[in-house]
Amino acid sequence: MRIQRKPNAYPLKKLLLTFLSFCCLYVSADPSKKIIELSPDLEEVLIDTSYIVEFDSVQGKPATVLTVHKRLFFNQDPSKNLWAKFKVHNNSDTSISWILLSHFYSIDELDIWVKRKRGTEFLFFRDTMSIYNRLIQHKHPTFNIYLEKDETIELLFRIKNESAFEYPFVFMTHESFYSKFFKEYLLYGLFYGFLLFVLVSCIINFIFFRDSVLLIYIFCILSQITYMLFRDGNGLYVVPSATEYADLIKNLSRSAMSISLLLYTGIFLKIDRKSWMFKIILLIVVLRTIYSIVLLEDTTVNTFHFEFFIIVFCTWLAFRFYSSVDSEARYMAMGLSFLSAVYAVHYVSIIGWFPSGAYAFWSLYLGIAGENIFFALALTERFKRARLDKFRQEQMNRELELLVEQRTETVQMQNRLLEAQSNELNLFLYSASHDLKGPLKTIEGLCNVGLLDVSVNHDQLFEMIKMKLRKLESNIGDLNSVTKLKYSNPVSDQNIDLKLLHQDIMDRFEKYPGFESMAFELNIDYKESVRFDTFTIRSIYQNIVENAIKYRDRSKEHSFLTISIYKEGNLLLIEFEDNGQGIPADKTEKIFEMFYRGNEESREDTGLGLYIVKLAVEKLGGKITVQSELGVGTTFLVRIPI
Ligand code: ADP
Repeated sequence: MRIQRKPNAYPLKKLLLTFLSFCCLYVSADPSKKIIELSPDLEEVLIDTSYIVEFDSVQGKPATVLTVHKRLFFNQDPSKNLWAKFKVHNNSDTSISWILLSHFYSIDELDIWVKRKRGTEFLFFRDTMSIYNRLIQHKHPTFNIYLEKDETIELLFRIKNESAFEYPFVFMTHESFYSKFFKEYLLYGLFYGFLLFVLVSCIINFIFFRDSVLLIYIFCILSQITYMLFRDGNGLYVVPSATEYADLIKNLSRSAMSISLLLYTGIFLKIDRKSWMFKIILLIVVLRTIYSIVLLEDTTVNTFHFEFFIIVFCTWLAFRFYSSVDSEARYMAMGLSFLSAVYAVHYVSIIGWFPSGAYAFWSLYLGIAGENIFFALALTERFKRARLDKFRQEQMNRELELLVEQRTETVQMQNRLLEAQSNELNLFLYSASHDLKGPLKTIEGLCNVGLLDVSVNHDQLFEMIKMKLRKLESNIGDLNSVTKLKYSNPVSDQNIDLKLLHQDIMDRFEKYPGFESMAFELNIDYKESVRFDTFTIRSIYQNIVENAIKYRDRSKEHSFLTISIYKEGNLLLIEFEDNGQGIPADKTEKIFEMFYRGNEESREDTGLGLYIVKLAVEKLGGKITVQSELGVGTTFLVRIPI
């Protein structure tokens, strides 16, 4: 193949026109490129040219014998017309209809004079002709040539093209023409259908994943589709009104394809944008862009060198950065290796090391399809990983949120507890000082009475002071118990004989007013000794016994307190049942509160007794419940784990 640089004019104007043509796709083109009249002078030129070829080997019956006959013309100078002449002879015994076809689909001007005995027939082709206006709607210039039995015709060719190329022409029977192109269009359909599928799935993926690497890949596929369409001529169906710009579109999309492939590889492989390698990539991108702008419509052998270099460079990048990226780079490297290998086949035939053939033409289709399959796999891996990472991130966020929520809840709870404790402490201090002040004031008053009034009975006075002092002592004892239970360390473990404890408390209350009118009964259905802190268990027992005496029903003839101790599972149950005054139903909840006094007789008391009991029970890890009925009596049930 001989490819030459052509003189190029008005690149900007062409670019603009191409763009405008895309905007009005199906506007019919103007086929008004000048038609040269065949004059005797021109026949002279034609005769003088070295391209005059005798072509008389189309022989035999069309359906059985020769189906294709090929003729190649070379144009070295695109500024001039290429003139050629050859003869075709039908030496079969029937008339034949041939299809004359140019394999180069974008010849700018092609005039054919068919000279017969009965006159000259004129056929022409212009690249401005819309594909839909052609006699045979095919992407290549195609003509019908009819030969009578034993007829010889002379074909005169004028070829004009802006670039220097080789122009292969073939004669085909109708059967071979239709069967060849049916198969070819079918393959194109499969190829472009596949690329469109990849393109659409990439767009859908982009909508879902918003991964910017997909935008470059979309651009890459678009440029691949465009390049291939204008490489094989199918693009003429897409832009029938811009067919004369086919070469320009082909070269620009070819450049876009190389650039986007390079950028996509770099970004997919997560090459650091500040690294020297990324700068090299950008340099190649700039060079390729300049190259395509300089050449525009022309294709030189350097274009293929450059293209092959970029593909091999991308492959090298994939292997070089293979280990630094996740497993999806594996597919990327495979895809690029495949493309490199297949492009190499195409490349060696282009530079002339091997004769070009169908394998060289179709290898690029295979390479691009294979590359896209591997790239699709690489993208799937990438999105799978992204989804997994996102899922993990979300899970981590959820766990963190939960942790924060739990922490906030704990802090809020602690705050509430602190607030409650602070309120309780304030109340405690206020009430404690009040409870201590009361008896002290009374004692002070009694002392004043004794000092000022000598006639007063001093024995009685001292007795009263003693009583108040006892009250004071009891109050201080209660306050002390609260502090001890609330703020002391966990209770110590001591062996306790419940019978002895009971007796000890009975002895203590012997002198307590009202004790003598009470009947106490102890039922212990539990033989083993229990291990509790003495002070704590004593606080429970003592306060409940004291209350039973204090709040006995004086109207009843016999007052009693029955204490039953027994085991239920791993719980020790102590039941205190009295037949005292009982507690109104709406007050049973309140009796365990600090400083709650629910009775006229308890005005002088601290209101701490049952609060101490509750604190002590909770300190032992147990629970206390109460059942009471006004006028009938009260039962406290203490459950402590043993
Ligand atoms: P206080 O110092 O007033 O006795 P407590 O906390 O011991 O304080 O008792 C709170 C209130 O519960 C008492 O004022 C009383 O009204 C009621 N109460 C406690 N025990 C009995 C009981 N056994 N029978 C009737 N009422 C009781």
